[in-house]
Amino acid sequence: MAVRPLIAGNWKMNLNLANARELATALVAYMKQESGLDMVVCPPAQLLAPVAVCLEGSSLGLGGQDCHAQASGAHTGDISAPMLRDIGCRYVIVGHSERRADHGEIDAVVKAKAAAAHAAGLIAIICVGETEAERDAGGATAVVEQQLRGSLPEGATAANTVAAYEPVWAIGTGKTATIGDVVEMHAHARNILREIAGDGGALRVLYGGSVKPNNAAAILAAAEVSGALVGGASLVAEDFIAIANAAPK
Ligand code: PEP
Repeated sequence: MAVRPLIAGNWKMNLNLANARELATALVAYMKQESGLDMVVCPPAQLLAPVAVCLEGSSLGLGGQDCHAQASGAHTGDISAPMLRDIGCRYVIVGHSERRADHGEIDAVVKAKAAAAHAAGLIAIICVGETEAERDAGGATAVVEQQLRGSLPEGATAANTVAAYEPVWAIGTGKTATIGDVVEMHAHARNILREIAGDGGALRVLYGGSVKPNNAAAILAAAEVSGALVGGASLVAEDFIAIANAAPK
């Protein structure tokens, strides 16, 4: 792992206020003595403000789980990138497979959201990944290529964008890609990023999909893996910290 690792926690639609504060406080304490990596937590929208308070003065970053492509307006239930920035976020996840599946977000929508994130000064964590059926049909690399090309906006750089390869069949299932598959897909993603982003060689590419303390070291040591996007294991401080500790620094 040549670049500074990023360990990102996607809390999804989990935790209440008390749990969130407790988890954030434990991670803030961890980051006080860890300077070799970046860490970000992405709570659900209603927890962003209280978690931001817990994170004040910490290197632990805050991120949204999604943003609207517009900066403001009549979009009931949505949250915009400038709103996330205003509340203290530095990151936002866009194009997560659960957003793509549950909300019909196609690449063009993801691209518009990432562009909105950039315009607001946020780092967009852009997720891509194939379904099990696509992998079984031999189409995994083509799907990831199409999603990367279709979801990265003009002006994406290593400073404002992180890519996350998350095979859909590995998310929340306990299944992980083999290290061989991870290496192959990350090499493929790297080649595409070199072509489509100015400094695509430096852009961080995370792996996501059932990353746990017991498999993190092997995944994080794989070529072209610059960190992890973690769902379930990011809800337990000791598991998330164990994953961070497994990152080569
Ligand atoms: C995710 O939600 O991005 C994810 C990778 O979840 P999990 O770690 O639970 O598979």
